[in-house]
Amino acid sequence: MENASDAAGRPSPRLLAVSKTQCAEAIAGLATLGQHAFGENYVQEAAAKQPALQALGLEWHLIGHLQSNKAKEAAQRFDWVQTVDRDSLALALNRHRPPERECLNVLIQVNVDDEASKHGCRPDQVAALARLIGEQPRLQLRGLMVIPTPHADVEDRRPAFRQARQLFDALRGSQASVDTLSMGMSDDLEVAIAEGATMVRVGTALFGARPRKA
Ligand SMILES: *Cc1c(COP(=O)(O)O)cnc(C)c1O
Repeated sequence: MENASDAAGRPSPRLLAVSKTQCAEAIAGLATLGQHAFGENYVQEAAAKQPALQALGLEWHLIGHLQSNKAKEAAQRFDWVQTVDRDSLALALNRHRPPERECLNVLIQVNVDDEASKHGCRPDQVAALARLIGEQPRLQLRGLMVIPTPHADVEDRRPAFRQARQLFDALRGSQASVDTLSMGMSDDLEVAIAEGATMVRVGTALFGARPRKA
């Protein structure tokens, strides 16, 4: 990460440790080394691990697709939801964010180039969704999250990262709370950082290969 940000002349991005399929002990181990922010893909999986880790005061990000019927539990369990891609989900998260907690940080997941994926809003929907989120008292819009088409050659993902950066710059001009562009994973974080990522989401390169699901 430092090499990539030095080469690009940018500040180093935040590191989100993606802990899906990893046990609570593995998460605690990384927390001992100073890692603070962890990403999970499923609400239920996070619910199973979080109680054992509560004393560590970690910051939890939801990075998997969120169904509306899980919005209440997500609004209770997470500090950030990175996958807000529709009005109804934003409204549900706002409604269910517990009053005693700080505002829920949200990223708009935007689908810049992956026709095969049904997740993420279209680029031309970002501005209106951002406006709606900005009107919700219990949500804080922090920026954008993207998952480009996983082309085998990571260089082929560069145009998607670049388009995300352009959308991010436009959004930053319209809302002061916007400071986060979440893009880049283990195999393409160098390209994402070169194109302006402020947060990278890394699982395999931190924890090793994920155990295969039974
Ligand atoms: C699993 C996952 C990651 C991390 O992927 P690695 O290749 O293990 O670094 C990042 N973002 C999302 C949305 C993921 O689902």
